[in-house]
Amino acid sequence: MILDCAIIGGGPAGLNAALVLGRAKRKVILFDNDQPRNAVTQESHGFITRDGVSPREFRALAHQDISKYPSVKIKKSKIVEVKKESSSMFNLITHEGKSFLCRKIIVATGLKESLPNVNGIRDYYGKSIFSCPYCDGWELREQPLVLISENKHVSHMAKVIYQWSKDLVVCTNGNKIIPETEQQLLKRKGIRIKEERIIHLRGSDGKLEKVVFEDGTEMERTGGFVTTELGQFNDLASALGCKMSKNGGIIADDLGRTNVQDVYAAGDTSLSGPSQLIISAAQGVRAAMGVNFDLTMAEFK
Ligand SMILES: Cc1cc2nc3c(=O)[nH]c(=O)nc-3n(C[C@H](O)[C@H](O)[C@H](O)COP(=O)(O)OP(=O)(O)OC[C@H]3O[C@@H](n4cnc5c(N)ncnc54)[C@H](O)[C@@H]3O)c2cc1C
Repeated sequence: MILDCAIIGGGPAGLNAALVLGRAKRKVILFDNDQPRNAVTQESHGFITRDGVSPREFRALAHQDISKYPSVKIKKSKIVEVKKESSSMFNLITHEGKSFLCRKIIVATGLKESLPNVNGIRDYYGKSIFSCPYCDGWELREQPLVLISENKHVSHMAKVIYQWSKDLVVCTNGNKIIPETEQQLLKRKGIRIKEERIIHLRGSDGKLEKVVFEDGTEMERTGGFVTTELGQFNDLASALGCKMSKNGGIIADDLGRTNVQDVYAAGDTSLSGPSQLIISAAQGVRAAMGVNFDLTMAEFK
């Protein structure tokens, strides 16, 4: 069987694309190896009607919706290679060595992120330390917070977090990354800056209590944020020849079309703006419409 479309990635982008293509009676398989970036969190926020939903429940509800459409299958599998089989067909290979032929591909593989280089930070990430104040700022509002950042986004992020808590300490973990003028702007608002290296974080069950510095000082904090470094989850898109933006996202038009014929991109993987469930889902809808539109128009040629 030749699929109309293969979707790689089963986060909100891929799932919503599958829903729209299923409703358009397209033959689709969605491949997902179940490693979503937000798996570390207990609750997701800001998606209207789903505020506070857990990532697991979100996916389960999406699978339920999609199960109504018989032309869509979801396969728990990792795509390890995509080969161009002919001018109008791709061959997708799974990690088990199975192969699937399709006419169109939607890449919805999300992002990989690296956290600041602080001992044990993963124990707190998603529980009391987060990366997006729009996602988790409300839960941390008015608390004594820390921002741990080792990159150029540090002072921008500090200003954004200030909306949720004025009790903020910015830690650069041994890096001198905040220019003097920016330091003055932050300090004028009472935001403190510590450039000493962090030795470790202290707390229990993921709940931050203290930040401990190399110079022996400690600071009580109940939560905070980090700035992360983001990159593609894998090199499938670049192997296909997709052009990347300067921040490493797949470049796509308003209907998700990339520069490679029959390859579309949706969600975080295009790194084109705020990284949010609802935005990824919307991009999945757009890419699905792009796929369906292009398949339909090809029939009228
Ligand atoms: C800690 C944290 C908290 C967050 N909280 C919120 C929040 O409260 N509200 C909000 O709106 N957003 C939140 N986000 C952001 C949100 O999780 C992302 O914007 C969203 O998940 C992106 O959706 P996506 O479909 O593009 O990618 P993802 O959800 O990351 O899904 C991509 C999927 O593709 C799969 N995949 C990758 N490569 C392959 C392959 N080769 N073969 C098969 N499958 C593959 C992955 O396993 C994954 O399941 C949070 C993010 C983080 C890190």
